[in-house]
Amino acid sequence: MQGTMLYGPGDVRFEERPDPKIIEPTDAILKVSAACVCGSDLWPYRGIAQIDGPTPMGHEYVGIVEEVGSEVKHIKPGQFVVGSFWASDNTCPICQAGYQSRCVDARPIGAEGAQAPFLRVPLADGTLVATPELPPDDLIPSLLSASDVLGTGWFAADASEAGPGKTVVVVGDGAVGLCAMIAARQIGAERIIAISRHDDRQKLALEFGATDIVTERGDEGVAKIKDMTGGLGAHSVVEAVGTQESMMQAIHSARPGGHVGFVGVTHGVELPGMDLFWATVHLHGGPAPVRRYLPELLDLIWNQKINPGKVFDLSLPLDQVAEGYRAMNERRAIKTLLRP
Ligand SMILES: [Zn+2]
Repeated sequence: MQGTMLYGPGDVRFEERPDPKIIEPTDAILKVSAACVCGSDLWPYRGIAQIDGPTPMGHEYVGIVEEVGSEVKHIKPGQFVVGSFWASDNTCPICQAGYQSRCVDARPIGAEGAQAPFLRVPLADGTLVATPELPPDDLIPSLLSASDVLGTGWFAADASEAGPGKTVVVVGDGAVGLCAMIAARQIGAERIIAISRHDDRQKLALEFGATDIVTERGDEGVAKIKDMTGGLGAHSVVEAVGTQESMMQAIHSARPGGHVGFVGVTHGVELPGMDLFWATVHLHGGPAPVRRYLPELLDLIWNQKINPGKVFDLSLPLDQVAEGYRAMNERRAIKTLLRP
């Protein structure tokens, strides 16, 4: 088959790769129906995160099960499935507590490379969730979003303890931040403040449930949030960027006793001890345990209660994946969907 490889900064190639095969008896092979480019793929694409030689790319996927290993009991060939970007057994104590992304046997799907027509998924029974039947084509973008951005945004909103009567600030207007707004609205937040400077993203933020838009960043952004909350700060803050500025903006935007849910993959973030000490906030974050939320998210999507697939504003054939990266890197697209 042909699949996506990153050779170095800006150098994405769609080239011959080995067909995935069952390696362990708990594996499944999927025929990928759709994959996409993640904001986190842009870190190595921009050369900010280092790679050791040519690397398979992609960790978000939906598809139809082609084949399963001899120990796979619940997932069956022919099913349409969604899985997290971390494979997990869903049975160990960490999984049972709801933290499947840190399963004792967690495996990164990125290592397999989901931006390809076929994909090996380890620990298939623990990782994959099947839809009730084959989905109509127009649900595929939303189902794909559940694989990462929606699940990650959901975890961030949950970790920030968004809920009725709460004011939620979302720092970051990429796909994850936007999906956190969907989550905050579903969970019943009273006020959702999006930090966003981009017209197209502001429009989607309002559609997804934001009640206010703030364009200021850093300390100015914090001052604005304090103004809007009677000088107190927000109850709940989602951090969905991963830079020093966004992390400090998130922590300083929360009121004493508030909660910060952080899911932006951090790059060079260092928290000053005294800022942390005086902030008096709850910090909860990390790689989102998307698998915890998948049954609920698939149900909401299947019943058309939410439409997170709108974060995909560019759809390309898989062999044009390099253009998909370029468009996101240049902010011409929020998120690129790829169809084999
Ligand atoms: Zn586990």
